[in-house]
Amino acid sequence: MLDVNGITKKHAERFGAEPAVFLAPGRVNLIGEHTDYAGGFVMPAAIDFGTLAAITPRSDGRVVIWSENFNEQVSHQLEGLPKNGGGHWSGYPLGVVKILREAGFAVPPFSLTVQGDVPLGAGLSSSASIEVATALAALSLAGANPEREAIAKLCQRAENVYVGASCGIMDQFIACRGAENHALLLDCRSLEYRLAPIPVNISLVIANTMVKHAIAGGEYGIRRGEVEEGTEILRSHRPEIKLLRDATTKDLERWGAEMPDNVLRRCRHIITENLRTVAAADALAAGNLKRLGDLMAAAHASYRDDFEASCEEADAMVEAAQQLPGLIGARLTGGGFGGCTVNLVHAELAEDFVARLHDTYRATTGIDAEIYRCHASAAAHAV
Ligand code: ADP
Ligand code: MG
Repeated sequence: MLDVNGITKKHAERFGAEPAVFLAPGRVNLIGEHTDYAGGFVMPAAIDFGTLAAITPRSDGRVVIWSENFNEQVSHQLEGLPKNGGGHWSGYPLGVVKILREAGFAVPPFSLTVQGDVPLGAGLSSSASIEVATALAALSLAGANPEREAIAKLCQRAENVYVGASCGIMDQFIACRGAENHALLLDCRSLEYRLAPIPVNISLVIANTMVKHAIAGGEYGIRRGEVEEGTEILRSHRPEIKLLRDATTKDLERWGAEMPDNVLRRCRHIITENLRTVAAADALAAGNLKRLGDLMAAAHASYRDDFEASCEEADAMVEAAQQLPGLIGARLTGGGFGGCTVNLVHAELAEDFVARLHDTYRATTGIDAEIYRCHASAAAHAV
């Protein structure tokens, strides 16, 4: 639970001054998986789990950051920040400060308290939420108010170069540009976006399979290699195909036979996923929930069969959901090989849905899943 009064009070006690407080949300991706590095489309929503950042200036030249989650403090001279994150949680906020200063923002020395209720490392992007909350806090002290797109890019850069994680732009972008009761269709290449309304009587139910198979890291690199291999083959016929985003199902029909079977299937997932993701935004805009649910089911099947990035547990969670009353659509969300499924559920049936999903999943797998009921929330803001 986020507690604005609590963090304000604790910050004041610890650092002796009343802070300004900022909130940035976590997110769930409704559809559009592994399309980001192909220059394609994703459609996340900000959720009502997030990170609070409370900030006050200091006069001793230091940056002092306390994390309520880790019960730990770090302290550095602002002019002598470590070269990189060093695998420590503080790399996320320190990276943001370093990148903001390199970009010319006059962030002064400060004390910062962070507290989040996004489950860490569960694929709901606690990392972007701590980055964006820190950025808003630091920028407020610098007296700067850049475009939200610029903030998202700077935070992504902090995670890429300072933390050393090769994430795309989706997480930071949705934290910066999400909107209450809306999903956001993002073109990962141009960063053009449009909001698509999620009816208020729909719950986002996020079900954590509680597994993350160890192959996930290695397979990610393998998938990217396969996608690049397929893109090159198509590009040899149509040089205007810069990224797989530019290719069509027609291209695949004509030249897919030149690809090894696994490469063909990876490319087919991405090309069809881009179509499904745009279609899903259109379905939301038209209020066509049946169509949205069908697209989510097709996306899961493609992720499972063509991209081979699902796992037994995630399939069990999706299949269990598909038997339950109230479900609109379910699929595995995130990088794959475990993590969370996302379920769109009629709100009046959501409580029962959660209980039954939990029980069915336990009966099938023996695992006690954590299941969260969320709704699409606002972008990062001052509180
Ligand atoms: P995800 O973004 O899916 O939650 P990541 O591995 O990308 O997973 O980021 C999780 C990491 O972000 C945590 O292990 C921690 O280092 C950092 N982090 C997120 N929230 C906080 C917080 N409130 N306090 C300190 N570190 C945090
Ligand atoms: Mg992350």
